[in-house]
Amino acid sequence: MAIIRTHRPVWNRQLCIPCGACSRRCPASVFTELADEQDSLRGRVARLKSLPKNRANQPPCQRACPLGQDVPGYVQAVAQGDIERAYQLVIETNPLPSVCGRVCSHPCMQACVRSKLDQAVEIRTLKRVICENSKERQSPAPEKMRSEKVVVIGAGPAGLSASYFLARSGYSVDLYEAKQSAGGRLRAAALSDELPADVIESDIELVRSSGVKIQIGSPIQTAAQIDELLANFGAVVLAVGAGPEQSPEHLVWLTQNKNLVITPKGSLQADSKTFMTSQAKVFACGEVMTGPRDLIRVIASGKRAARAVDQFIQAGDQS
Ligand code: SF4
Ligand code: SF4
Repeated sequence: MAIIRTHRPVWNRQLCIPCGACSRRCPASVFTELADEQDSLRGRVARLKSLPKNRANQPPCQRACPLGQDVPGYVQAVAQGDIERAYQLVIETNPLPSVCGRVCSHPCMQACVRSKLDQAVEIRTLKRVICENSKERQSPAPEKMRSEKVVVIGAGPAGLSASYFLARSGYSVDLYEAKQSAGGRLRAAALSDELPADVIESDIELVRSSGVKIQIGSPIQTAAQIDELLANFGAVVLAVGAGPEQSPEHLVWLTQNKNLVITPKGSLQADSKTFMTSQAKVFACGEVMTGPRDLIRVIASGKRAARAVDQFIQAGDQS
């Protein structure tokens, strides 16, 4: 019988019977334990496998994912047929799950120890299947609401990510985008076949559900506007990207604003840990700070910047 292949992965509960090797326990932990057995054949076999010896709490896939996704958790939820639970586990650490399920460069799979036994677990495809089959598009509510407001400028992957995690931390977040749609580089023509607009929209809907107010067609391009934002918000996060259409000149207006500094490589100078620029209360993340980077690292930059902004505001509360 001819097998008709489709581009779209299909999840068939009857046919997809997971082996459970990953969903029960990662071979990385099983083999490192077996390798300690000095007197058994299986101990000798395990020692022959060049598997990671590190017994850190997280499995290699999770350590390799720039977002720290709980891969075994969501693989296990899929194995149990609980797609909504799998989706909740994914969005706990990933603000753009449908996008990642299609175009993430999946460093997790390069690290997956199953590839040393047969082949890596299809971590990225499973994320896509989860997103295509889950009904829920609602971010969990923050544990505690905060009185401070934060503004993020630029609704590309870094800005969407920073906004999502700040909203999840309880802040009121306004996200300004100069163009008529959010998504930034995700909308680039080269990606459109792999990344249809409705896939991007579904993740933007998730970001909106966290409470982020996305204001499209709202360019922030003058020093005076930044001053006004500084007067009204607890922090300003610049995530204006560095796509090919944006030459270093697109940042010149920022240098007119007090202390902001452009590096010789044409990006905005900011501390790699605190994400703060040379001007207090102004933060940067994503490609405007690092220059062009892999998409998943851009999303992770937004996430880390959100944590840094949260720490900055909380430190101010205590002083
Ligand atoms: S596919 Fe990407 S986002 Fe998903 S776990 Fe792997 S590295 Fe992380
Ligand atoms: S995906 Fe690979 S590395 Fe991650 S828990 Fe499963 S088997 Fe281990």
